[in-house]
Amino acid sequence: MFVGHYAAGLALKSVDNRVSLGWLFLGVQFVDILFFPFALLGIERFQFIPHYTASTHFFLEYMPYTHSLLSAFIWAGLTFAAALVLWSGKGHKRRMAAVVALAVLSHWFLDLLVHTPDLPLLGDDSLKLGFGLWNNALLTYGLEALLLLGGLYLYMKSTRGEKGLARYGIPLFVVLMLGANIINIFGPVSPDETAAGIATSALAAYFVFAALAFYLDSRRSPR
Ligand SMILES: [Zn+2]
Repeated sequence: MFVGHYAAGLALKSVDNRVSLGWLFLGVQFVDILFFPFALLGIERFQFIPHYTASTHFFLEYMPYTHSLLSAFIWAGLTFAAALVLWSGKGHKRRMAAVVALAVLSHWFLDLLVHTPDLPLLGDDSLKLGFGLWNNALLTYGLEALLLLGGLYLYMKSTRGEKGLARYGIPLFVVLMLGANIINIFGPVSPDETAAGIATSALAAYFVFAALAFYLDSRRSPR
């Protein structure tokens, strides 16, 4: 799953609107932000295979440290601890830290809907899960779009902005993500693509999206 993960970030803003959407966007993709460098280093593995599913061009071969259910809880726990330290001066810091930890945890459960059975339960290959929605490109796109729009609704209800970028920035950003996902799912695939190329463009997207979220969210105030 790509842009659908950001739905969890947008929705969690309504649980504690003091947390910047930028942190939530980094949180929802945190295990992917680890996965691609891990894959490039050979710690985890994926292969570029054009049209491996109707929606994706890679086979996710081995990812016990970032995409097992067990590891999802461990990374969420570590995030909670790190956020408590980072926000030690703020009131109700536990709630803020819990919200970012939930963003990290949400990744596995949203991945579960779309992945083919490649998500390990524990750190080994004994049981792998995935409901396989990726085998239907239209349903994959539709689900991610629906999730994003639901997240946007909750986000807009918990923040406010009067005009210009403050008012329209985040909705426009969501439109941009919906467009990016059309290219991502239905766009052409180059046979010259490499695993390193996929990793680089994914990481670039995660950081650009997070930077945009930090900026546009800072223009709005809590409601
Ligand atoms: Zn993932």
